[in-house]
This record gives sequence, C-alpha cells and structure tokens, in this order.
Amino acid sequence: MNFEYYNPTRLIFSSGSLKRLGEVSVQYGKRALLVTGGGSVKRNGVFDRAVASLEQAGIAVAECSGVEPNPRITTVRRGARIARDEGCDLIIALGGGSVMDAAKVMAAAHYYNGDPWDMIYHGQPKPYLPTRALPVITVPTLAATGSEMNMGAVISNEETCEKSFVQAECLYPVTALVDPELTISVPQDQTAYGICDIITHVTEAYFNGVDGTPVQDRFAEGTILTTIQYGQRALADGNDLEARAQVQWASIVALNGWVNAGTNGGFPVHMIEHTLSAYHDVTHGAGLAVVNPAWMRFAARHRPEKFVQFAERIFGLRGKDADNLDCALEGIKRFETYLHSIGCPTRLSELKIDDTLITRYAQDTLRIIHDKHGNLPGRPPLSGSDIEQILRSAL
Ligand code: NAP
Ligand code: FE
Repeated sequence: MNFEYYNPTRLIFSSGSLKRLGEVSVQYGKRALLVTGGGSVKRNGVFDRAVASLEQAGIAVAECSGVEPNPRITTVRRGARIARDEGCDLIIALGGGSVMDAAKVMAAAHYYNGDPWDMIYHGQPKPYLPTRALPVITVPTLAATGSEMNMGAVISNEETCEKSFVQAECLYPVTALVDPELTISVPQDQTAYGICDIITHVTEAYFNGVDGTPVQDRFAEGTILTTIQYGQRALADGNDLEARAQVQWASIVALNGWVNAGTNGGFPVHMIEHTLSAYHDVTHGAGLAVVNPAWMRFAARHRPEKFVQFAERIFGLRGKDADNLDCALEGIKRFETYLHSIGCPTRLSELKIDDTLITRYAQDTLRIIHDKHGNLPGRPPLSGSDIEQILRSAL
C-alpha cells in the first residue's frame, strides 16, 4: 500500500518521569482538568504525586474522577462540563485506556456545542468529526490500549447499549508521559487482559491487511514475541520493572500507527468485542481473548498462508506447505492455549454470555460499521451470519 504516516504526539518514555508532569504541562496551559478512574491512582499515591508536580509548576488543578472501565458518554459529558465551568485550558489523563479515551473526547467536546455522543460512530448518517480539542497529556498507568499515542477513543452509551469509537487528528495527545513504574501496581488479571489487547491490535492489522507487507509483518511478529516474552515476566513478578517497560513500549507501537502503517486492514475482532462490552460490560482484553481465536479459525480458511506464517514464526511450527490449514489451525490453538494459560477467558461461557442474543450482537455490530455490501470490513468481510457463526463457535 501507498501510505501517509502522521503522529504528532511527543513521547517521553522514561522511568520516574511522573515527577516531570508539571514541567511538561506548563507549556500547554495554566488550569488543568485532571481525569482519573475508579481510585487506583489515589490508593497508590500516584494522584498526589501528580498534583504536587503540577502545583509546583504553578498549574491549578480541577478534578474529574470516577471514569469507569468502558467509559461512558455520561462521564464524558460530566468532565466536559467541569472543564468549561473551571475554565480549564488543558486536560491530563492519568489512568488506563478508559481514562485516556474519556479525556480525549472531553477535550474535543470543549469546542462543540452539541452532544459529544454525535462524535462517536454509531451508525448515524453523519457523525460529527471533531477538528479542535483542548491539548491532552496522557499519563498511562496500564499497558494495553496504546491510546496514549494515538488518535482514537472508544466510548460506551449505556442507554442505547452501544460502544464505539471516534478517530480524529485533533485527538492525538500533545504529549504522552510514559512512566513504566506506574504500571507496577496493575494486578495480574488486568496485566493479562492488557497483553491480549496489545497482541490483538497487532493481529488485526497482520491478518486483515493487504498482501506484501514484509517489514510490517516482522514488526508485528517482533511485537507479539516481545509481548509474550516480557509479559510472562511481568505476570510472574509484577515488580519486574524491565518487563513492565518492555510490555508498555510494545503496547504503544502496537497501536500508534507504526506497526500497521500501510496495511490498511479492518478491526473486525474489536468491532465484535465492542458489542459484547456494550451489552455485558465485559473487560475489553478479556472479550478479545474470546473473540480473537474464534475469528482466526474462521478467517484462516480464507487466507491460510498468513496463518501458517503466524504459526511458524510465533510458535515455531512447520507447515508442510505454505497454505497448510492444519498448521494454521494448530498455530491458532497454541495461541488460544497461551491466552488461557495467562488467565484470559477464551469462551463466551467464561464471560457468562450465552447464545440468547447472538443474532442481535451480529446485527448491532453491522449497524455500527459496515462496508457498501453491508459486511463488517476485514479479511474476509463478515456478514451477519458469519459473525453469528464465529460467536457460536466460541460459546
Ligand atoms: P481500563 O479500563 O482503563 O482499566 C481497567 C482497570 O485497571 C480499572 O479498574 C483500573 O482501575 C485498573 N488500573 C489501571 N491502572 C492501574 C494501576 N496502575 N494499578 C492498579 N489498577 C489499575 O483498562 P484499559 O485496558 O487500559 O482500557 C480499556 C478501554 O480502552 C476499553 O474501553 C477499550 O475499548 C478501550 N481501548 C481503546 C483503544 C484506543 O486506541 N483508544 C484501544 C483499545 C482499547 P481505576 O479505574 O481505579 O484506575
Ligand atoms: Fe483494543
């Protein structure tokens, strides 16, 4: 593919860098809205350290706490209101992907008089694409989404049971201040779900992209292998800072546009997972661990050679020939077993989801995003009955 690459986010990747938050922020504003989640940063002292650094730099701090996992549009509206009422000129996201995504949409909502839900792609004829936003500084506390250095955000609407995304250049954070020490306190289950999210960001581009991308393939495989290797260490010992740092760097490259540059693929596994999260408030990485292997088994029949490459290069298997389906399926089985071994669910029943609403999940996924033939974009494009078949195979 011919492609253009643009990523204006300044990345400061440095252990102990939280203390530089004030100095980094002061060039963008004097009154910051500090956005946080359900309380982890308050319990572990990170919030107080962030506020101290900001105040030392002369920045006034307003607070929007309580962003929930699968962040809700109601929370985005609340945060945008606080930013306006308090006259904030800068937004700082201190938390996981949920906090960062909510903060980005709050920042864009600042310059939009309508409802921020208009920006989220949910099948409306003309989504409002934001072109301006307050500057956002991301300070991730969990390695998973890569939201700290990309232009996407995913928001849920609990009233309509929808979860979807916005992508706009104005949503690139001005700076990502990445301090791997902040991820030391992430519990084992969230560490594993983060690992699954990282790998899935890479596999989406790898399997759904165009042919003939050898550099991207090696980037992708290197990112997956590194995530598996250092993820294992981070899971065995959460205090292993080197392992935490490697996984966090992998999470950033997995979705800052670099690994997938020019691949031009869809994100079908994410789109299906979003629907499950919308209905059941599933943890993102856990939902992906169920959907991804099921999707892979379906897709492998359409493009076995790429799945053989995955089996060979990630799991060291040997296919008899380039499109050997048995080898492809064995690679997928190894991947699923790996996900289970690190504590991810791989069946819908483990998420307490049965087949009652399967048709609706398929319809809703397609209502939010579809190509001109009505299919979910990807390789292969998926019809409603394909999505149902994939989900049934994961029951
Ligand atoms: P998250 O939803 O932000 O956080 C998950 C849990 O981890 C929360 O309970 C949080 O607690 C806790 N946590 C975070 N940091 C912690 C720490 N240092 N110590 C202890 N606990 C900590 O998880 P996430 O996986 O990063 O984000 C998931 C969301 O991002 C989903 O909505 C997903 O759809 C979206 N997403 C976005 C992108 C993108 O590119 N924008 C890509 C993929 C997924 P507290 O709330 O108490 O802090
Ligand atoms: Fe994701």
